[in-house]
Amino acid sequence: MGAGPNGLVAALVLARAGLAVDVYEASDEPGGGCRTAELTLPGFHHDLCSAVHPLLVASPAFRDVDLSAHGVRLSTPAIAFAHPLDDGRAVCVGGSVSEVAASLGEDARAYARIFSPLVRDVDKILPAFLGSMRSAPAHPLAASGFALRGLPSARHMARAFGTEEGRALVAGTAAHSMLPLTAPLSGVFPRLFIALAHRYGWPVVEGGSGAIVDALVSELSARGGRIETGHLVKRLDDLPPARAVVLDVTPRQLVDMAGDAMPAAYGRALSRYRYGPGVCKVDWALSGPVPWRAEECRQTVTVHVGGTFEEIARGEADVNAGHHPDRPYCLVTQPCVVDPRRAPEGRHTLWAYCHVPNGSAVDMTARMEAQIERFAPGFRDLILGRSTFTAVAEEEHNPSYVGGDINAGAATLRQMVFRPTVRWNPYRTAMKGVYLCSAATPPGGGVHGMCGLGAARAALLDLGEKEAAPPVP
Ligand SMILES: Cc1cc2nc3c(=O)[nH]c(=O)nc-3n(C[C@H](O)[C@H](O)[C@H](O)COP(=O)(O)OP(=O)(O)OC[C@H]3O[C@@H](n4cnc5c(N)ncnc54)[C@H](O)[C@@H]3O)c2cc1C
Repeated sequence: MGAGPNGLVAALVLARAGLAVDVYEASDEPGGGCRTAELTLPGFHHDLCSAVHPLLVASPAFRDVDLSAHGVRLSTPAIAFAHPLDDGRAVCVGGSVSEVAASLGEDARAYARIFSPLVRDVDKILPAFLGSMRSAPAHPLAASGFALRGLPSARHMARAFGTEEGRALVAGTAAHSMLPLTAPLSGVFPRLFIALAHRYGWPVVEGGSGAIVDALVSELSARGGRIETGHLVKRLDDLPPARAVVLDVTPRQLVDMAGDAMPAAYGRALSRYRYGPGVCKVDWALSGPVPWRAEECRQTVTVHVGGTFEEIARGEADVNAGHHPDRPYCLVTQPCVVDPRRAPEGRHTLWAYCHVPNGSAVDMTARMEAQIERFAPGFRDLILGRSTFTAVAEEEHNPSYVGGDINAGAATLRQMVFRPTVRWNPYRTAMKGVYLCSAATPPGGGVHGMCGLGAARAALLDLGEKEAAPPVP
């Protein structure tokens, strides 16, 4: 149930094992957080949710899906991401560690010391980080070193850097976590995202992220799987009898859907599950490219807008304390830089979100536009059309984004490992034959399909189909 990327990967793994698979999806089309549509004006194709896909390239769940055979083409900018500062300066990550280090002046040695070993070992670390978090890692030294060094906060990590540029890099990547930058584990995200940037780049899908879902749907259909859209499942009892039920929902929805069928202790554990801040997302149709002052920002897809480490830290602390910052940190993507066919000739699409308190109905459009204008004067004059989703609208659009939390649960220390609750197998629920495959299970949010792979494996093992159960790191 639920045709998001995790639900579809789970369905595909089960279908490959020879099971008959039916998928029920509430929306009128499959894809969940991985869809593309003309949200603003005709001819402007916007990613509704996910836009940038370093995890897709790195994920074991997609290794057996021949995306290119289904027409999925990735476009990877030479600069993975850039971060503008006032006065027209910017810092960016792309190419080799030594190239980025050389651009950081007095922080060159600190950057090389942190990232050279990480980039060297990233393929040993990733399987453990993208896995179920329950099995012994294949490369324990590399994985535990990564985990231990990432345990302290982003603020602690930023102390290694003396320049505004070096510290901004840490803040811009750490803020993806939606955690306060003083929180334990917020330092994992700069390490992971910068290592991914050097190893795989931060690609977008030509034509839009929806092509990933088209590929999954096409493979599933070829194996006899069926998808029924426009079918909101309200209660587990409403589903037809099945040997396994795999749910692409978060704990709150599962508790509602299960009713009395849910064992009380498991229900209590799930009700302690914490959701993180929400997002307010805006898409724009533009008459031309964003006129960033800094040239580096014009050459990449992803731009971290928010200024210095201190400004971003203050804004993220405000959000986590229930306030809406005046100068929000904005995650901005401009796919037309590498994929011009997203918009009519010469025109551009722009995608951005900022963090807001969970359940917020506040429209942050004006504050986000002011932030972009600050680093790209003249931006507002290019706007032809826009579409805004507040955090509450995000949940209306997809019930899995509870309160607008696009990661299906906060990335706290506890919930990074024990998602959704403390159990040996996080994908098995306490109800026989019922499994969770959403981003509320390890490894969490993102289009990587690993939650789907983990849930399908658990179901296949319980059905006695050990041979057909693919390994999960
Ligand atoms: C604004 C935004 C930006 C993002 N940016 C990125 C990015 O750049 N890169 C990245 O990797 N990730 C990004 N993400 C996160 C990514 O989209 C999600 O982590 C991912 O889609 C989770 O996949 P999923 O299958 O677990 O759930 P979802 O994609 O949320 O899919 C769940 C599906 O289940 C359906 N469903 C729920 N309840 C029911 C029900 N009761 N009955 C029937 N169907 C139901 C929903 O309609 C939905 O289709 C972003 C998300 C958002 C919202």
